[in-house]
Amino acid sequence: MTQAKVCFIGAGNMPRAIISGLVTNGYPADKVHATNPSVGKLDALKADFGIQVSHDNVAAADDADVIVLSVKPQLMQMVCEQLSHLDLSNKLLVTIAAGIPAARYQDYFKQPIKLIRTMPNTPTQIGVGMTGLFADNSISAEHKQICETLMKTGGEVVWVKTEDELNQVIALAGSSPAYFFLFIESMIQHGIKTGLDEQTARALAQQAALGAAQMVVQNPQLSLEKLRTNVMSKGGTTARAVETLEEGDLRGLVDQAMTNCIKRAEEMA
Ligand code: NAP
Repeated sequence: MTQAKVCFIGAGNMPRAIISGLVTNGYPADKVHATNPSVGKLDALKADFGIQVSHDNVAAADDADVIVLSVKPQLMQMVCEQLSHLDLSNKLLVTIAAGIPAARYQDYFKQPIKLIRTMPNTPTQIGVGMTGLFADNSISAEHKQICETLMKTGGEVVWVKTEDELNQVIALAGSSPAYFFLFIESMIQHGIKTGLDEQTARALAQQAALGAAQMVVQNPQLSLEKLRTNVMSKGGTTARAVETLEEGDLRGLVDQAMTNCIKRAEEMA
């Protein structure tokens, strides 16, 4: 089943990112289907990627080998119950929704299901995403491989050993692009405050962020501390700036932010 028929229930931003990666990487468009109540997103998916689209969740799911549940968490129960009358015994279910534990899907579908929980992030849209995956022991190696193939089209994947670890995936990768955006935004604000035009400030900050991330990726043998201290000379400009961040307890703030992120994910479960 390497070229399984895949159906996305819900055609919002995240499934669009995954579909874009799939089709761009050569997955046959006629094996990909997306459903959605409103027309605009479906028309765009059809025009951009040539996939099948429809409004009929049940018919699309019935025809698929893999059903990717991609609606917002608050709509998930309704959508699953709608599909619960289908025979799902030979289908793989993949959810990209935050928060909802695997056991709850069993309740929604009222039948034994094979489900893999995934947690993608928005850089999936441009092929540099990170997706955390969790499957329990009932999921076959073949199904795990199919899911991995789907999610890898948008970037990297990491399998976690326990379902709870998906909350750490949220803190480290799902939500964290926003932390970096905030940091870059703050740098740009300073640049503007001190007289640069916005375009110049943004160009400087974004390229520095990109360069820093690439240096981390391309130097796995170097610790983050080493990379940081390589930029710093005693009494120099970088040292002064980094000392200021340390004195302001940036590490403590990041720790608190990620703790609160995980707490919120637990509350949503
Ligand atoms: P989104 O852009 O708001 O899309 C949700 C889509 O679901 C909308 O297109 C909506 O259609 C459609 N929908 C509503 N009711 C439906 C129904 N009964 N049947 C089929 N489709 C229906 O949301 P998203 O950002 O793609 O997020 C989707 C899921 O991905 C969520 O569960 C979220 O937790 C998860 N996720 C998102 C991110 C992220 O960064 N965005 C990251 C990780 C996980 P209408 O527009 O017509 O209402």
